[in-house]
Amino acid sequence: MGENEQAYACEAFSKNWVSTVGPNLTAFEADFSRLVGQPAVCLASGTAAIHLGLQLLGVGPGDEVFCSTLTFAASANPIRYLGATPVFIDSDYATWNMDPVVLEQAFQARAATGKLPAAVVVVDLYGQCADLDPILKICGRYGVPILEDAAEALGATYKGRPAGTFGDISVFSFNGNKIITTAGGGMLVSPDARLVEKARFLATQAKDPGLAYEHSEIGYNYRMSNVLAGIGRGQLEVLELRVNQRRENFARYKAAFSGVPGLEPMPEAPYGRSTNWLSCFLVDSRTFGCDRDELIDFLDEAGVETRPVWKPMHLQRVYAGYPCFGGAVAEDLFRRGICLPSSSSLAAGQIDYVADRVLAAQTALRREVGTNA
Ligand SMILES: *Cc1c(COP(=O)(O)O)cnc(C)c1O
Repeated sequence: MGENEQAYACEAFSKNWVSTVGPNLTAFEADFSRLVGQPAVCLASGTAAIHLGLQLLGVGPGDEVFCSTLTFAASANPIRYLGATPVFIDSDYATWNMDPVVLEQAFQARAATGKLPAAVVVVDLYGQCADLDPILKICGRYGVPILEDAAEALGATYKGRPAGTFGDISVFSFNGNKIITTAGGGMLVSPDARLVEKARFLATQAKDPGLAYEHSEIGYNYRMSNVLAGIGRGQLEVLELRVNQRRENFARYKAAFSGVPGLEPMPEAPYGRSTNWLSCFLVDSRTFGCDRDELIDFLDEAGVETRPVWKPMHLQRVYAGYPCFGGAVAEDLFRRGICLPSSSSLAAGQIDYVADRVLAAQTALRREVGTNA
């Protein structure tokens, strides 16, 4: 937390705005909207934002929706909430994000059958924007709307423009593990103010205007609380600092591993600034000396918690049998990728300890291999 989160949240208590309306919500939305340059509505989670966003883009039963396969499950699950079918798209090695070439192939294949997808969910992975220009161009040519899932990328840029402003609708998350947090929460933005107002309406149970409880549409209880929005106001004040802290983490790991064979950082694409939400590396077992899983186990024993890169959606049991274009790149990134401790609260000495243990793993496990031989 920064300095002002608690004060804004306490204001909600002292003025008795403990509900899903109030001045913190109004101010958080206004501040956020100024930051990204689009109208914004505060929601209960990033997942809720994706759900409403896809519904507003017209996704419904029987539709297909193209979606990055290398992502967290919450990018894809709302497609199923709406009774639609996800069609997964592989990543490229240069960005780890949706490969525009594979996206084009998927569009050509669907155009040939005469049924295009209802929308495309493009994810900005680990804080790095996808290569949005070619993706926008392809979707524009086929007339299919985009939902940009910028849950991990608040504070990133693509060609100087903020992440999460490229979709017909874009979404952010303030989950506890994200770059800034409201404990739990999300934001939906769009260049089209009417879509944002419609999202606000659907998120508050779709109650028609007037005192009587009249409903002409099915709504949801998806609003954020005014207490949590107070946390969000304070967090927004330290966003730039948090992005810089995450970027410094990654830079420090990279410096520690420079020249180490078989340990390759997630590439930073030249078109923008990543938030480096997580510090990710690829382990090449032949040159590094042990594989990714052995490294995770070794670090665990040294008291260092790490994670594999997201398991691609097309490999998930729940999405078995769903279509996927390509998939081998995402699979390789998943099998070799490790996310090192990345919190913005880490001290330089803690990063150095982790880096030291990674290098120790190499020495220890290599020697073991040598002994066995
Ligand atoms: C965290 C995350 C979400 C979901 O956000 P919640 O606020 O946790 O619901 C969606 N997509 C991606 C890529 C995420 O990392």
